[in-house]
Amino acid sequence: MKRLLALTAAAFISLPLTPAPAIATGTDPAIQSHGTPGAPGAGDPYFPDQGNGGYDAGHYDLSLDYEPSSGRLSGVARISARATQELSRFNLDLVSTLSVRSVTVDGRTASYTQGGSELVVTPARALGAGRGFSVVIRYDGRPVHVVDPDGSVDGWIKTSDGVYNANEPQGAMTWFPGNHHMTDKATHRFTVTVPSTRVAVANGDLVAKVPKGGRTTYVWDSREPMASYLATVSIGKFELADSRIGGYRVTTAVDPKLAGDAAGFPDRHPPVLDYFSSIFGPYPFSSTGGIVDHAPEVGYALETQTRPIYPRVPSESLLAHELAHQWFGDSVTPTLWRDIWLNEGFATYAEWLWADKLGTRTVQAAFDQAYATAAEDEFWQTPTADPGGPENLFHDPVYDRGAMTLHVLRREVGDDAFFAILRAWAGEHKYGNADTAAFIALSERVSGRQLDALFDAWLFKPGKPSL
Ligand SMILES: [Zn+2]
Repeated sequence: MKRLLALTAAAFISLPLTPAPAIATGTDPAIQSHGTPGAPGAGDPYFPDQGNGGYDAGHYDLSLDYEPSSGRLSGVARISARATQELSRFNLDLVSTLSVRSVTVDGRTASYTQGGSELVVTPARALGAGRGFSVVIRYDGRPVHVVDPDGSVDGWIKTSDGVYNANEPQGAMTWFPGNHHMTDKATHRFTVTVPSTRVAVANGDLVAKVPKGGRTTYVWDSREPMASYLATVSIGKFELADSRIGGYRVTTAVDPKLAGDAAGFPDRHPPVLDYFSSIFGPYPFSSTGGIVDHAPEVGYALETQTRPIYPRVPSESLLAHELAHQWFGDSVTPTLWRDIWLNEGFATYAEWLWADKLGTRTVQAAFDQAYATAAEDEFWQTPTADPGGPENLFHDPVYDRGAMTLHVLRREVGDDAFFAILRAWAGEHKYGNADTAAFIALSERVSGRQLDALFDAWLFKPGKPSL
């Protein structure tokens, strides 16, 4: 997901992202004499300001303290990065509704400005190309979610007892500074302090839980590379369970309001993961699980890495969808947002496969049902491999036409080649990024077939392809 399930976006107040007046502090940027500024965006046409150029983030060590009653967050972000050019200054993505209090680069005070969604940092000295450096940013404020071009909300979404934190495509900038385009993956450590009446759940492995003076600090280690949009720090009155089941470390957090419906939730994971491992290759992460929040106002689930977040107890197909994303989306991530079908088409096809495995509905029946959409329906006008803009990022064709594309490919090349393609895609691009052209090239290489006509019709041309 995030295909909207029951959106009530009107209940939310939009956060304007118009630039705020710049505030300059610290040393004078005029003393810089070497290097050039890093680009303010990663070059993605759908979200031009997202991400930044001139450096590569390697690790985020985030210490966050959150008070749900006031909505106040104070944070320290310690970022390890490497300059990819001689760098006079660089940007991080952070909304300016959060106030930066200090920035150091390699322990020296750096000057900075904030405006819109950009934090611009000028180190005391230019950074040489290829050099590793560390940035420490202290900041605080009351985080607010963003409203996306399609009207959905993402980011730091407050709930009655905490935070539903889902960040696709642009919410990460609402709660921590970083290089927030999906092409700059990094490892993460989250040290989150909340009142002891609450639980803070993040990605990766729970490594410590330390109560002190009415507050509890949770430490989560996300050791495999992760794109920012897949990070989560969700907070609520959760029931936390952490155990080994069927060879997996399954860590779940369930809103007590949903405890009855969520009975057995941890045990539902291994069968799905075992099946997907058998067809996609080994599960790529050190732990799994999920966050089941009571958040009917949010309306979508998200495949947050290792531990998807759900606004209600997931159905079997939704669970399969989000777990399939761990291979397709999380481990292998698109290069540009327009390639989002590589996430959603694959996860939708995995839903079809899981239903077939359970005996609920065959893949062919799922395909036939989707293909029955009338030729004149608007559905067929969106080319799968470029839905046209950020407002269409999660439109139905990205999911259903994407899944149909995979089924047509399977029928064309046969089961052996098709599943070899999926395994090669997951294996060759593990923890990396890849685009539609790479998928086509891989499909042709593995199958030994020329597939231009098939992909042209199903991915690039508007209109209902004939069979
Ligand atoms: Zn999805």
